[in-house]
Amino acid sequence: MLRQKQILVIEDNQINREMLKEILSEEYCVLEAENGLEALEILQRHRDDIALILLDMVMPVMDGFAFLDRIKADSELALVPVIVMTQNDSKEDEIAALAHGATDFVPKPYRPQVILHRVASIIKLRETAAMVNLLQYDRLTGLYTKEFFYRKVRERLDENPDEEYTLVCSNIENFKLYNDVFGTEAGDRLLQGIAAQMRSHVGEDGICGRYIADRFICLQKREAERAARQRMAEYAQDERPAEMKNVTIKWGVYEIIDRSVPVEQMCDRASLAAGSVSGNYNRIFAVYDDAMRGKLLKEKAITDVMETALEERQFFVHLQPKYSLADRRMVGAEALVRWIHPEWGFMSPGQFIPLFEKNGFISRLDCYIWEEVCALLRSWQDRGLPALPVSVNVSRIDIYQSRLEDTLMELVQRYGIDPSLLHLEITESAYTENTERVLSTVERLKRLGFTIEMDDFGSGYSSLSLLGQMKLDILKLDMKFVQNETEKPEGQSILNDIINMAHRLHLKVVAEGVETRAQMRRLEQDGCDYVQGYFFSKPLPVAEYEALLEKAWKTQQLSLPDARTEDSVQRLLVIDDDAAYRESVRLAFEGRYEVLEAEDAQSACACLAANRNGVSAIILSMMLPEKGAEVFLNQMRRDSANWRIPVLALIPQCDVEKELPLALELDDFLCKCHPMFDLRKRVVRLIDVETICAREQALRDEANRDYLTGLYNRRGLHEAVNALRSEDLPASLFLFDLDNLKRVNDTGGHDTGDRMIKTFAGLLRCMTREKDVLCRYGGDEFVVILRHMGDAETAVEKGSKICRVFRESLLEVGIDGSCSCGVAISDDRGRSMIEWIELADRALYNAKRQSKGSCCLWNDGQL
Ligand code: C2E
Ligand code: CA
Ligand code: CA
Repeated sequence: MLRQKQILVIEDNQINREMLKEILSEEYCVLEAENGLEALEILQRHRDDIALILLDMVMPVMDGFAFLDRIKADSELALVPVIVMTQNDSKEDEIAALAHGATDFVPKPYRPQVILHRVASIIKLRETAAMVNLLQYDRLTGLYTKEFFYRKVRERLDENPDEEYTLVCSNIENFKLYNDVFGTEAGDRLLQGIAAQMRSHVGEDGICGRYIADRFICLQKREAERAARQRMAEYAQDERPAEMKNVTIKWGVYEIIDRSVPVEQMCDRASLAAGSVSGNYNRIFAVYDDAMRGKLLKEKAITDVMETALEERQFFVHLQPKYSLADRRMVGAEALVRWIHPEWGFMSPGQFIPLFEKNGFISRLDCYIWEEVCALLRSWQDRGLPALPVSVNVSRIDIYQSRLEDTLMELVQRYGIDPSLLHLEITESAYTENTERVLSTVERLKRLGFTIEMDDFGSGYSSLSLLGQMKLDILKLDMKFVQNETEKPEGQSILNDIINMAHRLHLKVVAEGVETRAQMRRLEQDGCDYVQGYFFSKPLPVAEYEALLEKAWKTQQLSLPDARTEDSVQRLLVIDDDAAYRESVRLAFEGRYEVLEAEDAQSACACLAANRNGVSAIILSMMLPEKGAEVFLNQMRRDSANWRIPVLALIPQCDVEKELPLALELDDFLCKCHPMFDLRKRVVRLIDVETICAREQALRDEANRDYLTGLYNRRGLHEAVNALRSEDLPASLFLFDLDNLKRVNDTGGHDTGDRMIKTFAGLLRCMTREKDVLCRYGGDEFVVILRHMGDAETAVEKGSKICRVFRESLLEVGIDGSCSCGVAISDDRGRSMIEWIELADRALYNAKRQSKGSCCLWNDGQL
């Protein structure tokens, strides 16, 4: 309903009141009072709504003069215009009334036309003046100010009760950063540009205002807005003036349905909707709805408690292991934050990281996580665990911190750790957002010795040309990209091309989100270096990860997980709590496979450990109590020796749809009511496929890898040396010789000789860093290249230490043996690999002459 303006008539004479009401009520809503006192009471109740007062001067109880005096004493009421009604002949009355603050007068007897005209013109005059007071226009952009906009919107809504309207609020992404980077003047120009565009978009019919700082708001007819939405989205790309090219504008839409909501709140909602898509690359618009309201309330609740959460150490690090595909070694982990809130419980990063990125809190949280990781690295070193690196996430927002390098440097120094152990994962979108800034930051971080990974590569903002310009160490393929590409047939996927290109740029490649064996195989084929994903392990609490580290340390030091087994017996492991079923499986495979049985996850793990490399396939019931199947899968895959074992899942009904998600990590599944020949057929097929794949992989590996140790062979060494970059230099080349291998072979047999060789290889892995080059050069000769090692003393110390630890480890397994070592340092690429090895060989000769088991450095004096 159109809201009428209210007029208060104060007149003791009832006939006069009736008459005035008659004249006015067509256009106005008329309130009546018989005297000044009654009028004051009405004013108390309607003070904001009364547009004008018509006042008779002569009244009982409180006359017009006393009334005027009273309202003029009230600063708010004083603004309400008062028209005084005087006797036709009373000039004195008129003058006295004006002196008491009346706005105008009309003489009695009343003439309708005169009254209406006076009333209308006075109301208009007053409103105009009041509006000017409201500071109608924003000085920078010329749009309406927020208050004036509210008022205009309310008027428009009241005047057009049948028209449907929509409010649209704009928000510039990262405007604060824009201001910081390009300066306030550029920021102002940007705002002016956007305001002008906005005005031209909404046209004559719309109303535009500046909401706050970088947010604008407009009211449009619903239809016009819907049509314009598309145009605005496109405008985001095309028609922009130069200064607006590199900003993103988000739009929040509030469709006005309930007009009783205060305009201020309507605008709030449009603005909230705009905020809800900030940081979301795929969306430019959001329409406000109740779900959004709920989400925003939750966000607000999170914002309220985040500081306390950090103080109270409610955030935890989980670590997800990464593995090397070439030799199945665990090569480190990614740190992922978890929040355990005392009331809300466990929260995954998806619930709060995007919010923290919006409100800037991410910088503080990241810093906290980095410190936690540094502390962990320190404690592992102190406890003698292998120094495997950990990657931390560096948010886009962190890049803009001016003190980023200092913060990181302070941390690694405080905890006394090598910066190369802290891998920094910088998300790909950060690179495209502000390329220059990221390039220079990354370059500085790299110079300080940190290892840089580009995270989420392939997630849609890829710029291949950028890769070449950038100082990176590792390319991390995005989960979705990995999952999509490994689905495609070989010829149609670009996975292999991307990996090859990365290798040409001397980058290592990590694939994340690897969930199935098929994906692992495919990545292996395509030459991917490292993998991370649920197939191998979910992110683990620190203690569990440490247990893995410890285990890796032990198995790698004493012997390698053996890829080949001489054992010719083929075994199946059937895991089911139903003994009768296990028995029937055993009978079905009798004579062909030995069937091992386990009734729960724990005994299954024990059984696998006792039959290392001896299990060809696993039949796993998904109906084990207490999520036994999941527990088992999580446990088994953490040991790389088990990756190749195919798993067939038994599901309760042939309800494939429902079971599929669980079965995804598995190789095949079968309903438990299967006929036995079906199980036989499937198991045999799984094993065949796996054998063929393993053989293919072995052939591929053979070209570059030594079969016994998994280290590079000569050919692999050649390629690895070619891949060394100038920043890897100076580097030290060590030539090791196992002193008494021949004697060990002769006396203890070749098995013992092989053990000695594997022990040495395992030791090298533990005592070197991930990117160092390890090669079995000949039967008993090993070449090791340690990057960034130009100091002679350090190099000799390292060589001697390896010799010493080797001797001790052999003693532990009951072998008496040693190795000697020659070292040569190179700080340029001028020398060929052969020449370099030659020099180390001369040093080795000297070492052996001194005493077996020692280490010598080559220098010019020896020539
Ligand atoms: P991200 O950096 O891409 O991390 C990988 C995400 O994939 C992690 O999710 C991880 O748990 C999950 N993931 C790993 N393997 C698999 C798999 O095989 N399948 C599937 N479906 N998912 C897998 P999470 O821990 O929920 O973290 C989500 C995102 O939150 C991270 O994505 C990262 O962008 C952010 N994040 C996590 N921790 C931090 C942190 O400390 N700082 C910052 N700035 N961001 C963090
Ligand atoms: Ca990451
Ligand atoms: Ca990622």
